[in-house]
Amino acid sequence: MKTLIRPLGAAAVAFALLAGGTATAQAYNLSGGHLPTTSPSYKINGGSSASRTAWSAGVSDWNNAGAGVSPSTTSGSATVALSEANDSSVSWDGITYWNNGANGVMTNVSAQLNAAYTAGYSASKREGVAAHEVGHTLGLAHSNSCVLMNPTTPDRTNCGVYRPQQDDINGVRAIYGASSRAAAQPGTVMHLSQAESFKDLKSLHRSADAVVVASVGGQSSTVKDGIPFTDHNLKVRAWLKGGSSTGSATVHQTGGPVDGALMQDDRDPLLQEGQTGIYFLRQYAPGKFFIIGGADGRFEITAGNSVSALASSNVKDVSGSLSDLVSRTQGLTRAEGSR
Ligand SMILES: [Zn+2]
Repeated sequence: MKTLIRPLGAAAVAFALLAGGTATAQAYNLSGGHLPTTSPSYKINGGSSASRTAWSAGVSDWNNAGAGVSPSTTSGSATVALSEANDSSVSWDGITYWNNGANGVMTNVSAQLNAAYTAGYSASKREGVAAHEVGHTLGLAHSNSCVLMNPTTPDRTNCGVYRPQQDDINGVRAIYGASSRAAAQPGTVMHLSQAESFKDLKSLHRSADAVVVASVGGQSSTVKDGIPFTDHNLKVRAWLKGGSSTGSATVHQTGGPVDGALMQDDRDPLLQEGQTGIYFLRQYAPGKFFIIGGADGRFEITAGNSVSALASSNVKDVSGSLSDLVSRTQGLTRAEGSR
C-alpha cells in the first residue's frame, strides 16, 4: 500500500506547489526604498475632517493587513507627514514624495490627498486613495490590475478595491521581510494617483475642454510644500476642440527641479522643450490648462508625423498617423457641436 500511496502524495504536493505558485505570482512593483522602521508613525497635519478620517483609515488598513509592518498615527514627531491639498490645477487626487538615501532608507516622506477631487468622493473611495498613498510610503510603486497600487482611482473603484490586496501585502512583506536589500537609486521620488483614467479617444475627447496640436516652448518651475510644479508655454498650431484666438496656452504640470534634482512621476514625465504633441486639456483658469489623466491625455508626434501614446497610457486606440488622429478628433468635435 505504501508504495502506491507515495507517488500519489508526491503528485498532490507537486500540484499544490504549482497552484500556489500561480496564485502568488508577483505583480507588485517596488520603488526601491524602505522606511527606517517596521513600526512607522504617521502624523496627520491639518486638513478637513473627511481627509483626516481617510488618512486614519488608510494607516489602519495597513496595520491590519498582516504585511509585517505596524504603522500607526501620532501627534508627535513622525516618520511620515500626511496632509491635504486643495488644488484644481492638477490631475491627481493623491501624491506621495520622498528622498531615497544611498542606503535605500526613505527620508522626508510626505503624502497629500487633493480635496479638490476627494471631497466629492464617498468615504470608502477616499480611504482607497489614502491607503494607496500609504502603500507608496511603505515603498510600493504602481502596479496595474485590480490591486490597491493601481495608479488610477477610477480603475481601483471599478475593481471595488479600497484596501490592501494580497499582492500589495506580498510587496510590503518582500520589502520588510528581506534579509538583505539592493541599494536604492538615491534621489527624489514622486508618485501621482490620477483622479481620472481614459481608455479611448472618445472618452478623452468628451472630458477635454480643449485639444491642441502644439509644440512645447519655455518653462518655469516653482516648489510648494516640497512639491515642484512646472508651467510650460505651448505654441499652439491648431485647436482641435475648444480653443481661443491666441496661439499659445500655458500647461501646468506636477514635477520639476527640487534642490537641484529633478522630481517627476515616472508614468507622466515632464514635457520637454521642443517636443511636439497632441494634448487633451482641462482649463482651470483663463488660458491655463492641465493635461487630463496624466499620461492618458498626451501623445507625442514623432518623426514622419506619426503619433504615439506613452507606455504608461491607458488609451488603447490611438497610434498611427497624425493626420488620422487630427481628423478623428475633429470629427468628434463636430459631432459634439451638432448635438
Ligand atoms: Zn500612486
